[in-house]
Amino acid sequence: MIVDQHGRRFRNLRVSLTAACNYACTYCVADGKRLQPASRELSAEALVKAVRLMIRAAGIEKLRITGGEPLLSSKFDDFLPAVMVLPLSDVAVTTNGQFLVRRQEVIRKAGLKRINISLDTLDPGRFRLIARSGDLDTVLAGIDAMIDMGLKVKINMVPMRTANADQILPMLEFCLDRGIELRYIELMNMGHLKYNAAYQRDFIGMDELLTTIGTRFTFARTDAPYDSTSVRFNVPGYGNFGIIANESEPFCSSCTRLRLSSNGLLYGCLSNSNHHDINALLEAPEHEALVRLQGVLEKAIADKQTAFTGEVTVMKFIGG
Ligand code: SAM
Repeated sequence: MIVDQHGRRFRNLRVSLTAACNYACTYCVADGKRLQPASRELSAEALVKAVRLMIRAAGIEKLRITGGEPLLSSKFDDFLPAVMVLPLSDVAVTTNGQFLVRRQEVIRKAGLKRINISLDTLDPGRFRLIARSGDLDTVLAGIDAMIDMGLKVKINMVPMRTANADQILPMLEFCLDRGIELRYIELMNMGHLKYNAAYQRDFIGMDELLTTIGTRFTFARTDAPYDSTSVRFNVPGYGNFGIIANESEPFCSSCTRLRLSSNGLLYGCLSNSNHHDINALLEAPEHEALVRLQGVLEKAIADKQTAFTGEVTVMKFIGG
């Protein structure tokens, strides 16, 4: 097991199935320009091999399938059932929800239990302004389909002062009514936001979020797992919500995350653009690949930072 001087090890792997996305969210990419998919993306088979190796070499226990938009890729249909039978304690998917209804049979057959759906507003016009694509009703139908199938649904919302600050309470009401845990993600200065005044302008921190929520709800802080990214709160009689407080309460000291991009680059830290190419390693026989991967993982864990300062890397490329 590879452990760094702060006692951190890799336990959670996030795999980006594809860098392609059908949205162009304002906080993720600049100017609404669709970024091209990575020129060389790994096949579903190679990605499954990478996960298998990472379970053995790093002790990965939990897997999150992300992107880009994972449900946009036809790889999803092969990748999901293949990883569901690996020795993992948890498999989850992060999606913008646009293709959930279309892919619900794949999800049902594979036996997925947990899904995170990104949704920043319940207002259709604002939805189009933020995502620059997509359709709100389709996402809402996808959320209902997942609840009907018995999946545990979480919704991720990025609150931004000039875009959706007035949605902080309506989104929480919507989620609590449906037994969904809402997770507010503090805007991260990633990608084009790293050196952009829009970041300071739009950032809403945990204290302000809690003040707004307190105008309508009574809540108390509750336990979150040791390496959880979210600070959790309970609204008595209703349910829970969380805040992923990268800025206000960074979780770097207990971070166990490792990211694999769709073109075969391993990232040990979201706040560090250092990466390690494992394409060649994945072509080696499994026993040889395992030995080589150990060396790569030692470098990747050394990339972990002790404070989140953001990075110029784009979330959709490295697997947000
Ligand atoms: N397409 C999928 C989705 O929309 O959930 C998965 C990829 S997306 C990059 C994963 C998550 O990253 C989304 O919940 C999105 O809101 C979040 N995200 C992207 N850029 C962000 C930023 N600058 N700050 C905070 N969250 C961000």
